[in-house]
Amino acid sequence: MSVAEARPVVSNMAPAQSDSERRMREVLDAQRRAHLKDGPPSATKRSEWLDRAIALLVGHKEAIAEALREDFGHRSVHATLLTDVAGSIGPLKQAKAHLKGWMKREKRSVSPALLGLFGARAYVEYQPKGVVGVISPWNFPVNLTFAPLAGIFAAGNRAMIKPSEYTPRSSELMARMFRSAYDETEVAVFTGGPEVGAAFSRLPFDHLLFTGATSIAYHVMRAAAENLVPLTLELGGKSPVIVGESADLDLTAKRVMFGKTLNAGQICLAPDYVFVPQAKARDFVAAADSAVRAMYPTLKDNPDYTSVINQRHYDRLMGYLEDAKSKGAELIELNPAREDFRQQPFWKIPPTVVLNPTDDMQIMKDEIFGPLLPVKTYEHVEEAIGYVNEHPRPLGLYYFGGDGEEQKRVVSRTTTGGVTLNDVVMHVSMEDLPFGGIGPSGMGAYHGIDGFRTFSHAKAVFKQARMDVTAMMRPPYGEKIQKMMDMQIKR
Ligand code: NAD
Repeated sequence: MSVAEARPVVSNMAPAQSDSERRMREVLDAQRRAHLKDGPPSATKRSEWLDRAIALLVGHKEAIAEALREDFGHRSVHATLLTDVAGSIGPLKQAKAHLKGWMKREKRSVSPALLGLFGARAYVEYQPKGVVGVISPWNFPVNLTFAPLAGIFAAGNRAMIKPSEYTPRSSELMARMFRSAYDETEVAVFTGGPEVGAAFSRLPFDHLLFTGATSIAYHVMRAAAENLVPLTLELGGKSPVIVGESADLDLTAKRVMFGKTLNAGQICLAPDYVFVPQAKARDFVAAADSAVRAMYPTLKDNPDYTSVINQRHYDRLMGYLEDAKSKGAELIELNPAREDFRQQPFWKIPPTVVLNPTDDMQIMKDEIFGPLLPVKTYEHVEEAIGYVNEHPRPLGLYYFGGDGEEQKRVVSRTTTGGVTLNDVVMHVSMEDLPFGGIGPSGMGAYHGIDGFRTFSHAKAVFKQARMDVTAMMRPPYGEKIQKMMDMQIKR
């Protein structure tokens, strides 16, 4: 009996293969064959892959803005250029500029150090993993498909992509774009809904990146586990804002309301709810109202104000408001021109403050993902810290204020994917910072060098000295090894 046979074998039954699953499997096999045949791509080849992605974005910027505008009912063209076009080109260019440095072999020390004198060497070689699967969501469909390619290509991998069915025009457009610039063995796109997503996540990729909802991540992780596929999960959660006593309320409100209204709050890192000092709650709401008025004098026909993605999400968000109202929260619509939203061609919802929500309200249970802002109050900042810690670990946390001690306390006593101080969301755009969540808000990270490393295999290499330095470790044992052990086994 071999060692493998001595272990109990658990059978992993997958459902019968569909045509689309078979097709995806064929492409995966073809990509893997090409990867093995060509070997790790040179820096020039990786740079060229990155360049092609940049050229696609530049060449299709209008088509991307138009597809997204249609997919959302209405989406601000300028916001699309900012988040999905420029926001993807930035990471791709950064990867291009740094990839040679990232690819360098990393020298490590040998132990014991004496071995180095005899010529032994240790280093880490960053090797492409092979084929990376990418499942992307609808809220920034282009950004969350293209930006990961910065790290994926820089690390020398090929990619298979499954974009969201909620943005069909953008997903089809991206499929066409990639087909026009890459061979199927370099990049391939598969469109479709959850069934295609589920089949996609069952493929034995060399790495899988899933960006989406925490509830779906359970299924994706289970599917990846069947093949022990290394997995990065980029999820969401309820990212809190803690406004300190020392914060400038006007500036805070401007920044919070920008984060809450950009893409109509449909951002994984959107400020979900705000904690303000009790005595300042009304002042904060007034400042939020002014901030919205300054950005959007009108909302309904304003091309800068984005719609909620579809009826399902519209109903979900309106349901939160009804539920909160029925349970005693005060709703304050930030609707500068007092427009009536009952009749409209889109699913726009005016930014709405939900003052003094309680935990039994659905809006305080789910990730909001829309332009609604619960405002809670505290007497002492410890209450806000305690509240955050009693709830699932979020993707982001935002602290506003000039009190250095308080800032340090908030950051060190809470555990979140990342933090932005005196603003919201912005840490995601710092390409040199790892981006990711923790626990229910995600697993692993990417962006910049951290993306390169996530999509690389950090291979440990040890090169032994030519001299027979390990002779004394071999039997027959005697005095020599005993002396060596006596030297090492002590405090
Ligand atoms: P979603 O999880 O519903 O869908 C994401 C993708 O998964 C889509 O392509 C979908 O077709 C696919 N999918 C659906 N069911 C699947 C299954 N069973 N197996 C495999 N794939 C499946 O998420 P969404 O509604 O598109 O996006 C919103 C969520 O994504 C929010 O929770 C948000 O916070 C999160 N998000 C996170 C980040 C981040 O970078 N951390 C960025 C954007 C959005």
